[in-house]
Amino acid sequence: MAYERKLDLESLYVATELASTKPLTATDPRLAWREAGLPYFACNFALRQRFGRRVQKVSLDAGFTCPNVDGTVAVGGCTFCDNRSFSPSRRLPRAGIRGQIDQSIARMRMRYRNCRDFLAYFQPATNTYAPVERLRTVYEEALSHPQVVGLVIGTRPDCVPKEVLDLLQELSNAIDNSRDRAPSHSDGRGRRQTGTYVSVEFGMQTMHDRSLDWMNRGHHHDAMIDAVARSRGRRFEIGAHAILGLPGESHADMMATAGELGRLGVDAVKIHNLYCVKNTPLADQVARGEVRLMERAEYVRTVVDFIELLSPTIIVDRISGDAPPDYFIGPSWCLDKPAVKAAVLEEFGKRGSWQGMRWL
Ligand code: SF4
Repeated sequence: MAYERKLDLESLYVATELASTKPLTATDPRLAWREAGLPYFACNFALRQRFGRRVQKVSLDAGFTCPNVDGTVAVGGCTFCDNRSFSPSRRLPRAGIRGQIDQSIARMRMRYRNCRDFLAYFQPATNTYAPVERLRTVYEEALSHPQVVGLVIGTRPDCVPKEVLDLLQELSNAIDNSRDRAPSHSDGRGRRQTGTYVSVEFGMQTMHDRSLDWMNRGHHHDAMIDAVARSRGRRFEIGAHAILGLPGESHADMMATAGELGRLGVDAVKIHNLYCVKNTPLADQVARGEVRLMERAEYVRTVVDFIELLSPTIIVDRISGDAPPDYFIGPSWCLDKPAVKAAVLEEFGKRGSWQGMRWL
């Protein structure tokens, strides 16, 4: 399916402040992750910089749907999407927002004994796809939890009208001094921040329209450019999802998406390989042999190439993805995330490279 809406990309880019044009020096506070010996600006490091302590995300399901599922934009959803697989919370009986937060924190208590601050992560489906007053109620309920210090909101770039961006900006500006939240903190880039931490994750996936058509995404890359341009300067963090190994994309195509992230000037990126879960069109395509999924060694080389091209100021939120084993089809190596991370670190070590080494 081809989508007709076309924006004037040149004029949008003219209006965009391009982060990749800002010179960096070896002592720039935005490069503290390098001084810490990391090969890339890892999300955990960025959160520690921002909050001064460990902060974990708790995944929440507010019961939103998606315009690519309910027929508003398209039907059937993205080729790879089975929303059940996106969030552990989807498999729990629906509890209220605070109830879900309590359940998730209780589950995490064993693993992260000393963690007492959490980000409410609205993960499955499109979490800005509702009337703005409903969004306000849901977000504010999460922020009212005494252990929640911020919001992370996953959404589509074509699903952030002005009134939604206004709400996210308002929440980003709000300061709650009644709790132990630092009213002023570093954003990890040397800028002082006040207010509530809000991060919006846009599903960009790729900069190539033919790949967005393949996945039945229901929008083209111009929607991402537009969403980022309208979000800039509103205080909340702008994130992007990117998928490597999409069918028909060459290595050069994937590296072009890395360059585009710098050109857009996003604050953070989540990267993972194309993986396959049950009951999706992709599962049928893989079963018929029409789509090949990346092997681990190939992914590791590609993701390191990708990160080397990113600006050193972009937070790398994730370098792998997986789904619950009962939904998962493959590739099986995805299920061992620590091994994927170890292989990526080893590849950086072998090359002696780091994020931004080949940033243009
Ligand atoms: S936009 Fe997101 S939630 Fe909607 S169908 Fe695609 S992957 Fe699924």
